Amino acid sequence: MQDRTIDKTCIVVGAGMAGLLAARTIEQAGIRTTVFEEGRAVGGRMSTSRLEDGVFDDGAQFFTLRDDSFAALVDQWVQEGVVAEWSRGFARPDGSYNEDGHPRYYAVGGMAAVPAHIARGLDVRTGARVAAIQESGSRWEVVIDGGTVESADAVIMTPPAEQSLAVVDAGDVRLAPSARATLEKIRYAPCISVMLVLEGPSGVPEPGAVQLSGQNGAGEPVWWLADNRRKGISPSAHAITIHGGPEFSAAHWDQTDDDVVSVLIEIAHHFIRSRVRSVRTRRWQYSQPIEPHSESCLVAVETPPLVFAGDAFGGAKVEGAALSGLAAAEQVRRLLRISCECFRGPVG
Ligand SMILES: Cc1cc2nc3c(=O)[nH]c(=O)nc-3n(C[C@H](O)[C@H](O)[C@H](O)COP(=O)(O)OP(=O)(O)OC[C@H]3O[C@@H](n4cnc5c(N)ncnc54)[C@H](O)[C@@H]3O)c2cc1C
Repeated sequence: MQDRTIDKTCIVVGAGMAGLLAARTIEQAGIRTTVFEEGRAVGGRMSTSRLEDGVFDDGAQFFTLRDDSFAALVDQWVQEGVVAEWSRGFARPDGSYNEDGHPRYYAVGGMAAVPAHIARGLDVRTGARVAAIQESGSRWEVVIDGGTVESADAVIMTPPAEQSLAVVDAGDVRLAPSARATLEKIRYAPCISVMLVLEGPSGVPEPGAVQLSGQNGAGEPVWWLADNRRKGISPSAHAITIHGGPEFSAAHWDQTDDDVVSVLIEIAHHFIRSRVRSVRTRRWQYSQPIEPHSESCLVAVETPPLVFAGDAFGGAKVEGAALSGLAAAEQVRRLLRISCECFRGPVG
């Protein structure tokens, strides 16, 4: 991080892709930045978990590149050995390879390795849920669960919109009706993620994943199926991730794990093939925004700056979250009147 010459502070709520890239960019401008994350680890929906000796990406599975500023970051991560190209397409439900020429990237140590890499050297407080933010003169006060209060010149909120709104409402922040309407309109599709450790090899074809959504199908009841061993992140176990589609996930949300798992295993049995040794499920209430807001972030209050960011702004997915975090950092710089000269430099 660079020498601090600017006597300004920023608090970022949420340590997913958007929050961490925002924090890193702002910190590199010399603005003292703290990230509060309610989870035990950084990453949010870029999550990697373990079950027995299996390693699973259970949230985001891969990411694509469209924008030059994200491409520059990804190039750097490739050089640093954090991410690598996985494929140029995935298998169709009939097992054939649907190559379209666009690279898909995965994280060599599992998707959570990317946020962990970005977080190096940042002041990130995990296990710290932000309960409320409230205006206090020309600054913001951020109330952490347990009662600690921190203050800052600017705040960036990156949780899913509904959760961010609950935090500002808890502190009686008066939002302009248009800002509130934008946040209230954002909805997310749910996703039930199932992880299986198999006793032997799966029948998942090359390159280690079957995409059942988009051009390959309706994505219901199964959206996606991956063999994490073939992907390269689970060397010691045949570890399968299955994602239920949004309709399936919503319809089965209140059913028991056993019921959900048996339905999905039955549907995907020809890709599973070996006996299932262990099972775990994870329910993502806010998996992906259904219709992201058209702007890459939302400046809800100019003085003191309060900016909303995350994958619901701009382009959705991992890349959309990254670009939104960068855009929010730029807005904070502008609103705190930090010159562009201080604000340059790589963010890797
Ligand atoms: C099952 C699944 C599959 C996906 N597949 C893909 C894919 O293949 N490709 C792709 O590009 N994208 C995929 N996505 C979407 C991608 O993961 C997200 O778009 C992206 O990671 C969102 O990043 P974010 O920073 O906006 O939000 P998040 O990662 O959700 O980060 C927000 C953070 O805020 C924290 N938080 C919430 N409330 C509070 C609070 N009150 N106080 C403190 N912290 C709080 C949360 O714990 C979280 O860590 C998938 C997502 C899911 C769930």
